[in-house]
Amino acid sequence: MNIHAALDALEAFLGQRLSRSKSDLSLHGESETHFPQMPPDAVAYPETTAEVSRIMQICAKHGCPVIAWGTGTSLEGHTAAVKGGVTLDMGRMNRVLDIQAADMDVRVQPGVTREALNAELRATGLFFPIDPGANATLGGMAATRASGTTAVRYGTMRDNVLALEVVLADGRVIRTGTRARKSSAGYDLTALFVGSEGTLGIITELTLRLHGQPEAISAGVCAFEDFHGAVNAVIETIQMGLPLARMEFLDETSAAAVNAYAGMAFPEKPHLLFELHGSPDSVAEDAQRFGDIVTDHGSSGFEWSDRIEDRKTLWAMRHNAFYAILALRPGARSLVTDICVPISRLAQAVEETRADIARSGLAGPILGHVGDGNFHAILLVDPAKPSEMATAKAVSHRMVERSLALGGTATGEHGVGLGKRDYMAKEHGDGWAVMGQLKQALDPLDLLNPGKLVP
Ligand SMILES: Cc1cc2nc3c(=O)[nH]c(=O)nc-3n(C[C@H](O)[C@H](O)[C@H](O)COP(=O)(O)OP(=O)(O)OC[C@H]3O[C@@H](n4cnc5c(N)ncnc54)[C@H](O)[C@@H]3O)c2cc1C
Repeated sequence: MNIHAALDALEAFLGQRLSRSKSDLSLHGESETHFPQMPPDAVAYPETTAEVSRIMQICAKHGCPVIAWGTGTSLEGHTAAVKGGVTLDMGRMNRVLDIQAADMDVRVQPGVTREALNAELRATGLFFPIDPGANATLGGMAATRASGTTAVRYGTMRDNVLALEVVLADGRVIRTGTRARKSSAGYDLTALFVGSEGTLGIITELTLRLHGQPEAISAGVCAFEDFHGAVNAVIETIQMGLPLARMEFLDETSAAAVNAYAGMAFPEKPHLLFELHGSPDSVAEDAQRFGDIVTDHGSSGFEWSDRIEDRKTLWAMRHNAFYAILALRPGARSLVTDICVPISRLAQAVEETRADIARSGLAGPILGHVGDGNFHAILLVDPAKPSEMATAKAVSHRMVERSLALGGTATGEHGVGLGKRDYMAKEHGDGWAVMGQLKQALDPLDLLNPGKLVP
């Protein structure tokens, strides 16, 4: 490995678009959570697929690691440069290339953010539904197989990426998939790269599935006396097949946190936040049925609104819940957990997790996309106290063990990165070794985001 020779060659090729400034390195070595800063040796800003291909050829020649970067909002140390090398900031490849309204699809560059895409789509009557809260890039979202609040209705990135253009470790450019809605043409390489976290190739273009903007949308909140009521209402809603577009849980501490942070006035009780999409009649009918379910589970009824301003306030508050919870303990870092279990096991998973956190003595509010069986505890730790971090890691470890025992997964949506690698053998058995063989075949020099995801 000769990183310096690679950087000299990259500088000759990219000029000022190869940065070694301290602030750039530090920004690209940071993460939102508890992982230590691991900056790269340089940051490159490619503008075309051909440039990404040339960068990969140079890095392959010199054995220099390459870490793709979208907006750096991933939560498991995904973008840490554990072996140094070059971070490829894809932010300048940020054009929406082709909107095909008749076929309800769009071709974009990987640095387009989900909010920018939806702003461009506004006049078409279409939208891209996947919403991980953070204004992440579509390349980063595909690479982590992201989902978020709307997955209960629209699926995850897995369901909404039709095709990709990918630059491989040796600089070859391939296309996976087509604009057809289905295909039986061989191995599904699109699915292989979605969720590969930058370890198999650099995504340089995506073709995404779009959805019609619903004619009517209503959103609202309901409070419950205890978390059992809220979780059981979710389970019954899903089992009855009621098509909610979002169904989010906030426990009583999370509700108190958003009150303090966003000036809301929720009762300090467990809440469900929900949204319904459809025609005015279907939304009214679904709201009525949902109202009956939550009342049966001890909610004193719900408030809902079809005013766009009210919806915006509600979801902005939900998206800021992570920062509201962080603000509960100024100076704290977070360890964010992310388990997902079959819906019938959700109540047990939440109950046991709450009891475990209570025993640990840490603050760890719980919230999540419970309609999918996915929830997070945000464990707040004092970075100056290693014993607190050890306690948080032990809680997180037991959550994963619990999830796997209940038929669930170590990570519902955040991905593997550095944080969940140790659970892959247990979750996948020999399948994890097969992932390693795929990595070996596509990236034999281990250039692409080394140290992450695979053995
Ligand atoms: C407050 C908050 C809330 C969040 N809520 C959710 C949530 O509800 N659901 C959810 O799924 N996630 C959530 N996340 C996590 C995060 O937003 C997602 O993981 C997101 O998909 C990361 O996108 P990014 O553009 O920031 O990618 P980055 O963090 O920059 O990169 C993520 C990974 O993708 C790789 N990558 C990036 N671009 C490319 C590319 N072009 N080609 C190949 N690999 C690439 C990187 O190497 C890295 O491994 C949340 C994060 C925060 C901070």
